[in-house]
Amino acid sequence: MSRGYNFSAGPAALPEDVLRQAQAELLEWGSARASVMEISHRGKDFIALAEQAEQDLRDLLAVPANYKVLFLQGGATQHFAQIPMNFARRDQAVDYVLTGDWSEKAAKEAKPLARVRIAASAADSNYARIPARAAWDLDPTAAYVHVTPNETIRGVEFHEVPDTGAVPLFGDVSSTILSRPLDVSKYALLYAGAQKNIGPSGLVVMIVRDDLLERCPRDLPKIFNYAEHAAQGSMLNTPNTWGWYLAGLVFKWVKAQGGVVAMAEHNRAKAQLLYGYIDGSGYYRNPVEKSARSWMNVPFTLPREDLDAKFLEESEAAGLLALKGHRAVGGMRASIYNAMPLEGVQALVDFMKDFAARNG
Ligand SMILES: *Cc1c(COP(=O)(O)O)cnc(C)c1O
Repeated sequence: MSRGYNFSAGPAALPEDVLRQAQAELLEWGSARASVMEISHRGKDFIALAEQAEQDLRDLLAVPANYKVLFLQGGATQHFAQIPMNFARRDQAVDYVLTGDWSEKAAKEAKPLARVRIAASAADSNYARIPARAAWDLDPTAAYVHVTPNETIRGVEFHEVPDTGAVPLFGDVSSTILSRPLDVSKYALLYAGAQKNIGPSGLVVMIVRDDLLERCPRDLPKIFNYAEHAAQGSMLNTPNTWGWYLAGLVFKWVKAQGGVVAMAEHNRAKAQLLYGYIDGSGYYRNPVEKSARSWMNVPFTLPREDLDAKFLEESEAAGLLALKGHRAVGGMRASIYNAMPLEGVQALVDFMKDFAARNG
């Protein structure tokens, strides 16, 4: 058996070069005479690694100097709750824009902690579009506006950053970070679970504007307080050192590919190839409005549900892994994050053509 093309939505494929490097230095990292997983996070070697990873991410996204970069734990989901804990009072409005399952979950987790308002929702379209900015009902006194720039499950993506005026914009960029240029300055806070475009699950990267950290309530337990994490260089307690190390390797890999501008060209080409084939096939179908289609997650259905099991079995046998759609949507989903090469998408399209011809 050999490695397949992995279309998993997350934990997702990592660049093969990164896995090989991690394998080569798994037992002895640098001059440590031990694995990177086995050394103190407070030693100078690990501190240097941590600082380099942060610098590489800052370079890749041109993160302005007045933003902190944090390496946290708990997955994006923990931060659905921790964000309102830090940035809103219980009686204060927080605006959520619902564009799919992840934004719904983020709003739900915030409910016990702040006065959640749904500023806009595309639920009526079964989350097949992004609600037009002009129709959003924003509260000018809200603590923040929360958006999910890429909805991983239904494959819906914002292709522009919405203007929210003086109200700070927060974005869950778990499944789009590093896939294309991102204007950090338009957001007050960005966060991402690592397991799509950054590294292993469990690690969360957060980019947060300094002035926001002044709002963190002093009576929060330290471990939940972002200002404390920032003050301690994300080492308030033992960080996910293995995740931080792998994230650092991935940042170097993205740089070596030419950075986020090159990544965007690569991802646009993959998305065009796959959507172009689906739309022209007369067989497969993607329900998302063209202007809102994700470059990272491409759900599609077959003409009859009873073909799904056969498609999955045969695609798996052909080395095309994890194409099963999310249980909320059914059908298939191809996640084509940064680490998926164009050849992988071409192999998928070739398989889909052949399958359609045999199962018309
Ligand atoms: C995967 C994902 C999450 C959840 O991440 P966890 O690490 O499982 O908590 C949240 N938001 C988006 C957009 C995601 O893609």
